[in-house]
Amino acid sequence: MRDFSNDHRWLSLNTATVRKQGDLAQIVDACAKHGIRAIDPWRDQVATIGLDRAAKVIKDAGIELTGYCRGGMFTADESHRNEARDDNRRCVDEAKALGAPCIVLVVGGLPQYSRPGSAPSKNIVNARAQVDDAIAEMMEYAKQANMPLAIEPLHPAYAADRACVNTTEQALDICDRLDPNRLGMLGVALDVYHIWWDPELLPQIARAGKDRLMAFHVCDWLVPTKDILNDRGMMGDGVIDIKSVRSAVEAQGFAGYSEIEIFSQNWWDRPMDEVLQVCIERHKTVV
Ligand code: ZN
Repeated sequence: MRDFSNDHRWLSLNTATVRKQGDLAQIVDACAKHGIRAIDPWRDQVATIGLDRAAKVIKDAGIELTGYCRGGMFTADESHRNEARDDNRRCVDEAKALGAPCIVLVVGGLPQYSRPGSAPSKNIVNARAQVDDAIAEMMEYAKQANMPLAIEPLHPAYAADRACVNTTEQALDICDRLDPNRLGMLGVALDVYHIWWDPELLPQIARAGKDRLMAFHVCDWLVPTKDILNDRGMMGDGVIDIKSVRSAVEAQGFAGYSEIEIFSQNWWDRPMDEVLQVCIERHKTVV
């Protein structure tokens, strides 16, 4: 496993971590100042400053991307499916313009939560079938842009409203169905917050192999977690053995960035410089 204790050259910042403290241009500035070499921006942050300006500030700062957040939210009733498809095609175009290495997919839960306005449904089996079909469709468009798609399995607590793909195994099953020849266009984004509890995690990481491991996200699981969405912990403040998970993905040959992604009111309330300093310190000591 790589030694992160001396520097933070393999730290990437998911820009949602400091989204309340500044816009994307300000975040890029702060990252450059702190020697952070990579980010994973969100679509709404890009839209706020405009795609062209976002691409320019990232390029001018010499900062790499570790992904683009996010595509997906595929599940919809019949009348909202075209909207979902078109939205995801725009996401591919944006990711291409920004030079992202992949799009992170949060696939959607039940239609009424993923695509508001959709007719209510309790059929999660059908939602999961829709996800397969929609990823297959998006892949056709993404392939033309040579843009890989990384499915992020989400903790089962999000099955209703954010993602009905809830385990690494389930995400890899989709990869195997839609990309049986491992052409490098479909893989997984593994986020320790969502997967740390899974007894099947280590064998599934081995099953994924290097070509399916497209992104690695870190934060921590606090006990108690007061808000499943916005109470993620800073690495080292919770119960996840982050190093053991990183060791497992690196044993498969993953040699990319560890991307820090913390949705937390606690950390949004602090100055950006302070948050980045703590991120760097914890990256060296507990990631
Ligand atoms: Zn994540």
